[in-house]
Amino acid sequence: MTYPVDLIIVGGGPAGIEAALAASHKGFRFILVEAGEIGASIRRWGHVRMFSPWEHNTSPLGRKTLAVHGHPVPDLAAVPTGAEYLEHYLHPIAQSPELAPSIRTGTRVIAVGRAGIGKSDLIGDPRRADHPFQVTLARAGSSDPVSVVEAPILIDASGVYDQPSPFTEVAVAQECEASVDHYIPDVASQRGRYAGKHTVIVGGGFSAATALRDLLPIAAEVAGTRISWILRNADRKPLTAVRDDVLPERARLVEEINRIATSADVPGLTILRGTRIRSLVQLPIEGGSTDGSGFELSLAGDHAGTLTADHVLALTGYRPDTALLAECQVHLCYASDGLMKLSAALLGAMGDDSAADCMAVPAAGIETLRSPEPNLFVIGNKSYGRFSHYLLRSGIEQVETVFDALPAPVRTAK
Ligand SMILES: Cc1cc2nc3c(=O)[nH]c(=O)nc-3n(C[C@H](O)[C@H](O)[C@H](O)COP(=O)(O)OP(=O)(O)OC[C@H]3O[C@@H](n4cnc5c(N)ncnc54)[C@H](O)[C@@H]3O)c2cc1C
Repeated sequence: MTYPVDLIIVGGGPAGIEAALAASHKGFRFILVEAGEIGASIRRWGHVRMFSPWEHNTSPLGRKTLAVHGHPVPDLAAVPTGAEYLEHYLHPIAQSPELAPSIRTGTRVIAVGRAGIGKSDLIGDPRRADHPFQVTLARAGSSDPVSVVEAPILIDASGVYDQPSPFTEVAVAQECEASVDHYIPDVASQRGRYAGKHTVIVGGGFSAATALRDLLPIAAEVAGTRISWILRNADRKPLTAVRDDVLPERARLVEEINRIATSADVPGLTILRGTRIRSLVQLPIEGGSTDGSGFELSLAGDHAGTLTADHVLALTGYRPDTALLAECQVHLCYASDGLMKLSAALLGAMGDDSAADCMAVPAAGIETLRSPEPNLFVIGNKSYGRFSHYLLRSGIEQVETVFDALPAPVRTAK
């Protein structure tokens, strides 16, 4: 059988674009389908300086593509912001003549299956590969199908950033959830939003630490500005330093935040260690409706009680859209929602050693990226599921691994 394309790539983030580059380089006909714009997830945190330098964020093929089309190759030792990474790398590559004609933005994949068979047919059988993937597309913002594309190979690089992980013990009303912030705010351009207000930051990872670092100067300068930082663990130093960290930006953030957390008195800051959020409601305004102007949090643990706040910044991580591949035979980890074999390899390499460096985890190999579903590969942040240690460098390695394992496309002369 022949199909209009050999390969469908879901997601135009770094992993999807690197996959598209490799596909083009190896002679695969492909389409890349992106729900928003290229690099949509990174645009949300474009103001944040990354931890990793250009050298780790770019592939040799990507750098070559920049050079071939007359774009400067960034200084590999420098560390870009998210926006700089998009402007100087991802966007020019996506716009290159090798990729641009095969990219469809503003198009969401809403379903993936195989033609003629269902999930429970031919269980773990390589003959499933005889049935092409059928990928249903919709316009962004709609769930109505507009077209179906077929291809024998599918790469899911749809990331995790669209789905924040839960941050309360019991479910929150949809309207209230919609007023919670789940992305690191650009505090410099939203100063008025936080000045003189009470902001609750939830989470003990790098995103929460970044938001805290950016908000603290406002608390020091503007009277009445308060920040409450809610942490599940009770450690005096909330961030675990990566042993012998090779990423100085990351090491600096850990050092700065742990110093702040152990200081006796930081203007405007209260840290609630050993505390969980049980539930959250929006405060009613006159007439009983809500306008997203305030919250009441019910707390459990060492600071059990209630707390009111103007803003809630829930930075507790993200989780993949597992529904997208629900009709395929994909083996996911029951704890992380990442690929099962990859999750086991990552846990095996890092275990519960929280000071271990994910950069030291060796490239995991093609078997960790395979599922019972033949020719389906989940790559990028989605392959790690909720495991928060994913770095672009791992995605670049995954793309190399997948394309080394795929047989070159065969073309019959017309
Ligand atoms: C604040 C922050 C800072 C980070 N800093 C670093 C760093 O310094 N170094 C580093 O290496 N990593 C960093 N990361 C981690 C990681 O590299 C990024 O999250 C990166 O964006 C992951 O790339 P991805 O291609 O896997 O996913 P994404 O960038 O999330 O791309 C997925 C794309 O798929 C699209 N999509 C989703 N669902 C569908 C669908 N159904 N149909 C079509 N398209 C879909 C999305 O719109 C998105 O554009 C950081 C992450 C965050 C959040």
